Amino acid sequence: MDADAAEQITRRIHDLRLTLPAQVTLVAVTKLLPAESIRIAYGAGLRHFGENQVQEAIKKQALLRDLAGITWHLIGHLQTNKVRKAVEHFQWIHSLDSLKLAEKLDQAAADLGQSPQCCLQVKVLPDPPKYGFALSQLEAELPQLDQLSHLQIRGLMTIPPQGSSPETIQQVFRQTQNLAGTINHGQFNRIHIDQLSMGMSGDYPLAIAAGATMIRLGTILFGPRP
Ligand SMILES: *Cc1c(COP(=O)(O)O)cnc(C)c1O
Repeated sequence: MDADAAEQITRRIHDLRLTLPAQVTLVAVTKLLPAESIRIAYGAGLRHFGENQVQEAIKKQALLRDLAGITWHLIGHLQTNKVRKAVEHFQWIHSLDSLKLAEKLDQAAADLGQSPQCCLQVKVLPDPPKYGFALSQLEAELPQLDQLSHLQIRGLMTIPPQGSSPETIQQVFRQTQNLAGTINHGQFNRIHIDQLSMGMSGDYPLAIAAGATMIRLGTILFGPRP
């Protein structure tokens, strides 16, 4: 990467952070980008990085061992055969999208003596191509999710359906915020939601207005992905 491109990323990060409320964590989404991009963002002060794929992240992490204090977030669908690696390489899993996956992850976490922080990925509107809990399904399965003692289920993650209007996006974010309140008023032993992972480059201001605490931004920081 040339110096101009690096400087541009640094400036975008700096400018964007000035606009963010203090309670919002900026997770820089670096899928498909080289480790060098992460290094630049780290140099600009970011410490939270989001990757979609376990294997891709592991390769980059190996190249970035000298950077202390990074929190890694898995934001893409996790296959059950990769749960062990996910627990080893990520502190946050935003894409806990089924009970079956949660049970496998809990088992892997127990084996490894870890307790990963997780977001339940929810679909507040029907969205067939996407992974995630439908609301009725989540309601039915929350008692079982609450039994998983090696997971810290403390967030909700959502992505509005592709092509949604701003009004619909706002509605999705608001409903997710309300859902967190509903869950927290339920009688669960372990599950308590204190994080809302919502908002991407195209819609993050709406997410922040609806209480997002983690926004996942790629394009707006790094430009279009290769
Ligand atoms: C790619 C991706 C992002 C970032 O999207 P941008 O539009 O580039 O900001 C955020 N969240 C998830 C789950 C993603 O896959």
